[in-house]
Amino acid sequence: MSRADESFRKRLEEEREKLTAQLERLGVTEQENPGYSTHIADDATEVYENAKNHALRQHLQRLLGQVNDALAKFDRGTYGLCEDCGGEIDRARLKALPYAALCIQCQQQRERS
Ligand SMILES: [Zn+2]
Repeated sequence: MSRADESFRKRLEEEREKLTAQLERLGVTEQENPGYSTHIADDATEVYENAKNHALRQHLQRLLGQVNDALAKFDRGTYGLCEDCGGEIDRARLKALPYAALCIQCQQQRERS
């Protein structure tokens, strides 16, 4: 494994810590139970805050999943390889997005379809 790969791994680990901390602050330990709230929000602000937190939490959890996937790839030795075509993901792309799972071409293809 090259030095460059190690720096990506470090960044991913930092990202994971950051995301985990953010999720903890949002109370991710609460049981997810969409559509069946155990307490009824008594004003519109609370409803809005809950919806906003829920969306943010989903966003953070999705990111965390991507970060964990990327870290798992280090163990398998497939980090930096596109999940669709198996080609190498551009270094510049990984620098901007260390948990990118697809190369630019495949990403664009998915966005088009
Ligand atoms: Zn690809």
